Amino acid sequence: MSFISENIQKVQDFFIYRDDLYPSLGGGNKARKMMALDKVLKTQGYNAIVTTGGIQSNHCRATAVYCQKYGMECTLVLHGNESEFHRQLGNAKIIRDTNASLNFCDPDEISETMDAAMREYEENSYKPFYLYGGGHTLDGGKAYIDAVVKMVENGFTPAQIYLPTGTGSTQAGILAGISKSGANTKVIGISVGRSKIKAEKEVEEFYHRLCEAYDIPCNGEIIVDDSFLCGGYQKYNDAIENIAKYSLSYYDILLDTTYTGKAFYGMQEILKENPVDGDILFWYTGGMFNYFGV
Ligand SMILES: *Cc1c(COP(=O)(O)O)cnc(C)c1O
Repeated sequence: MSFISENIQKVQDFFIYRDDLYPSLGGGNKARKMMALDKVLKTQGYNAIVTTGGIQSNHCRATAVYCQKYGMECTLVLHGNESEFHRQLGNAKIIRDTNASLNFCDPDEISETMDAAMREYEENSYKPFYLYGGGHTLDGGKAYIDAVVKMVENGFTPAQIYLPTGTGSTQAGILAGISKSGANTKVIGISVGRSKIKAEKEVEEFYHRLCEAYDIPCNGEIIVDDSFLCGGYQKYNDAIENIAKYSLSYYDILLDTTYTGKAFYGMQEILKENPVDGDILFWYTGGMFNYFGV
């Protein structure tokens, strides 16, 4: 064990899955999920997307860039402060630089605002695709099944995988990939906002849907740890802030305080108490624009 700074400790060597290097739409898990829909959208003749997220949403960024790239209409229903959105950098700036139409609303008005945007497209003879926040679709989950199966086929089967968990579709997809591979890997989600009970329920539901849709044995263990929430989504403590600050020089990746820094901190804390025999994989879901955003 070596201490790198007061708050950063190298507990044991680990591997990193560089999902940030996903090669389009700015990378990260939201780009991978979005591109998983590419074939569906194009073969079924969709020409507009309606989706939702916060003002620094990686998902909204990937969606807006996708639509710009392929000449589709895009409406983003954004919850958050409109003047902050115009002031902030990171994903907010990237979104501003696309052709996406923006509708700001309160969090409790999201579904009616999305429905209204869908209706407007339909009335103007478009075929809009309704995309749940976070890119929560079976195809998006399938992209993770495929990524994990490929990793195992390439000869890497870690003992444990850690990742940040929000809507849970990334974790469910990774777990379904592990189940499909027949590997004995624990997949541990570090919740970025939800309680353990709520997050595990979401992951479990989606995992079951994936197993059913793609004929995979549904025997994986659902594990979400909510000990590192620091009070909720986008909240963090000094240790997480330090991890983010030093991440590029210590770990070669840029960790942010909302997702990956929180998960990385959680992983370190868990491994301190429970050393593991076997390889550890940190699934780096991207999100570096969050680092530059605010
Ligand atoms: C959205 C996001 C997550 C959470 O992914 P889910 O599939 O919603 O659980 C994790 N990391 C980053 C960087 C994200 O943008």
